[in-house]
Amino acid sequence: MTHHTHDLTDRLARAQKAAAEAGMDALVISPGADLRYLTGYEALPLERLTCLVLPAGGDPVVVVPALEKPAAEASPLGGLGLDIAAWDETDDPYALVASRLPGVVRAVGLDNHMWAEKVLNFRRVLPNAEQVLAGAVLGELRMRKTADEVASLRAAGAAIDAVHRRVPEWLRPGRTEREVGKDIADAILAAGHATVDFVIVGSGPNGASPHHELSDRVIEAGDQVVVDIGGTMPDGYCSDSTRNFSLGAPPAQYAEYFAVLLAAQQAQCAAIRPGITAEELDAVGRDLITEAGYGAEFIHRTGHGIGLETHEEPYIVSGSARPLEPGMAFSVEPGIYLAGRHGARIEDIAVCTAEGGERLNLTPRELVVVDV
Ligand code: ZN
Ligand code: ZN
Repeated sequence: MTHHTHDLTDRLARAQKAAAEAGMDALVISPGADLRYLTGYEALPLERLTCLVLPAGGDPVVVVPALEKPAAEASPLGGLGLDIAAWDETDDPYALVASRLPGVVRAVGLDNHMWAEKVLNFRRVLPNAEQVLAGAVLGELRMRKTADEVASLRAAGAAIDAVHRRVPEWLRPGRTEREVGKDIADAILAAGHATVDFVIVGSGPNGASPHHELSDRVIEAGDQVVVDIGGTMPDGYCSDSTRNFSLGAPPAQYAEYFAVLLAAQQAQCAAIRPGITAEELDAVGRDLITEAGYGAEFIHRTGHGIGLETHEEPYIVSGSARPLEPGMAFSVEPGIYLAGRHGARIEDIAVCTAEGGERLNLTPRELVVVDV
């Protein structure tokens, strides 16, 4: 997807309206996914202040260091016709922001990932404004994807699927996780991603640690391996998918719980539809895993939203009564982990549609047995 000017203009207008409804007088958005979502500008996260200042009522202004103005103008932001205010090295950019805000600012929404030093500088220049999280309004907008955004996620899914199909070529006894991970990272870029976000190769007992990344452990015949990989496409949208591999036939207990996991993940994907709540979708898989005796080994939530960030709203977790809506995109990734032995996780990105759900990762989810 390229950034269409009318989409960005519409997002700015909707963000202003949502901020006003939430009682925020302005949003102040520093570099990151929120800024890219609203303006198309993929700004560098620098110590010098760059931010979008979006009054709830009034014209937006983008404050940038003079050094960054050409980059800002060359980005999709440059086509929006917004005022771009450049500050020089000896200016106080925070005072500049304060001067561009409406007269009385009671509450200002700062993006959730703003650096603390910037938050505190805004406290200094706006001492009477309550600081609140802009994510309360922007998360609500970003989690409802347009058809163009879903198409971007579908393309990201196809790109990471192409990498998963090649993993058996690289998984050989005697190679380390790090060596395999290097091949995977190269392939993530070759498949069209702009960046590699993470590469998890959890072999043998490392597969029982969900956020294990890479180590110098030598992969052996008889190992089961969890491969969870993702990257960001040139348009900013992210991929994330997990598949499981076995070098030779797996042990009986692994095969037993893998079948449970596969059935649980399938049931969850089949249960996606508008109106089901996040916690209900979590329970669809968790109940099956618990009935099979592995409830205590499913040690994390079912999934997370995905878009311009790998982890964003909506989270598919017990305790969230949020009903799913068409356009919401998220992972479905139950796992079973036997500490010190082995583990498995099956992960697809799925999107809620008007009729049900669509999976955006399409490689086989069965255990891939690699001949050794
Ligand atoms: Zn994930
Ligand atoms: Zn993942």
